[in-house]
Order: sequence, then C-alpha cells, then structure tokens
Amino acid sequence: MTIIKEFNYEEIKGFKFGKQLFGKPKMFSHIYFIDGLLIDTGHSQMRKEIIKTTEHLAVQQIFTTHHHEDHTGNVLALRKQFNCKAYAPTLCCEIMKNPPKISFAQKITWGERPPIVDLIPKDTWIKTPNHQFQIIPIPGHAIDMVALYEPRRKWLFSSDLYVNSYIGYFLNNECISTQIASIRSILALDFDVLLCSHNPQLKNGKQQLVKKLQFLETFFERVALLYNEGLQAKEIFRQLKLKENNVVKLLSGGSLSKMNMVKSVLNHLEVGRKKIHMLSP
Ligand SMILES: [Zn+2]
Repeated sequence: MTIIKEFNYEEIKGFKFGKQLFGKPKMFSHIYFIDGLLIDTGHSQMRKEIIKTTEHLAVQQIFTTHHHEDHTGNVLALRKQFNCKAYAPTLCCEIMKNPPKISFAQKITWGERPPIVDLIPKDTWIKTPNHQFQIIPIPGHAIDMVALYEPRRKWLFSSDLYVNSYIGYFLNNECISTQIASIRSILALDFDVLLCSHNPQLKNGKQQLVKKLQFLETFFERVALLYNEGLQAKEIFRQLKLKENNVVKLLSGGSLSKMNMVKSVLNHLEVGRKKIHMLSP
C-alpha cells in the first residue's frame, strides 16, 4: 500500500510518504516546502511519487539535514527536476561522497541512495526571500544531523531528533549521550511546533520532545546503575526485561537493535572510565 498525504502548517507545506508491499506502511518520511526551500528529499522507494507530488512547487533550493537514505534518497532526482542547488552541512557533504552501506531492512523500507559528490556545504544559516533559518547541529542519531530553526516564526524542522517519545532500537553507530545533549540544547530554543521527518507534532512539540528526553535519560540511568554494579551488556538487557524486535534485528543484520541502545550507554561509560584511568597517577 502506498500513502501520500499533504498538509499545511502556516506557510509551510508538509508531505508524507509511505510504502509497504503488504498492508499499511508503518514508517513514513516527510519533506517540507517553505518559501522556495525544500527540506529533505524522502526515500528512493517512493521516488516516482515524490517527483510527481512536488512537481508543481517552485523549489529554488534543497537542503538535506543528514546523510541517511530516507533524507538523501531523491536529492539528485529533485535537483534535476527543479534545476536548483542542493545544500547540506559540511559533514553530510563529505559522507555523501561515499555513503556507508545500508542494511537489508533499510533497503526494503527506504531504498538505496547513490553517492552525491557535489552537495554544497552550508553550516550556519540558509536564507529564503522571506526567512532565515539557523542551522543547528544535533548529532547523536547521525553524526552530521542538523535542525533548521526560524526564530521569528518559532518553526523547528527537527529532522530525526524526535521521531517518537519512545524509541525501540538504535542504529549501531547512534550515540545516546550525544542525543541527550542535542535534545537539551534544542529545548533551550523558543518553539512549539516540531516539523519532524517521521512524526510531525503540530501542537505541543516541545512537550513531546521533553518526553523523549526523559525516556532517554531514564534508560541511560537504569543501564548505568547496573553497569556500575558490574553487570555486562547481556545481563543488563535481561535484568531490565528489555525485549528485542527480532524481525527488525534480523532483517538489518543486527545493525538496528535495542541492544545497540544498551551498548551505546556502556560505550559512553567505558570511555569515561578510561579517561579517569588515564588521568589518575
Ligand atoms: Zn536518520
């Protein structure tokens, strides 16, 4: 089943895309259009639909928030369609020259994305005729991820910072402590709407993001407590009665899992321990 939905928030146009072979899609990518700027490009599984749905827009520039395949999947096709420039944070531009391989689960959900060698770096502001968007680094979910913030209108394009107030699994390179720091820094801004790439919150966005912060902090604390008692990753997983989504884990070859969340906490604590060890005489 294929789902395409369009919605408006003030002057912003939002587009929701989801496709699944059998039954209703569970995951959606969103792209946003505001004042000539297209924010992210969706996934290549829906390239045809995305090209068709956006063809009437007067896109003057494209900005990609990070290198993941559900954001960069159609940069080349849309840049060609609109004959415009495509920007991204410097780190994203570098990663996209030779992007990391994706798992089978990601391939069937989102689809492949080709390398892009000529994205134009932009790291501080992106301007449109009527707006200025601040580019704010929010690493953790991805090392190169940024949010776009329009301070006058209090719009926050939060990329994958939110997704949900509860998270069931991590990619193997996601960092929980950096995510927590990124959410804390974003919560210091004045905003209410969360123009999320998967699950937009057009009301009470800030409250929803606070919930996610609390979830991650609680998860971190519970794992840290057991680690400090001397338990290893597998024992911690059992003690906390965590449950793995085995289908996701299997299809991703282990690159998406709840165990990755536990390991992310342990990595942080182990790095901290090593630092203390190095500092002690
Ligand atoms: Zn992502």
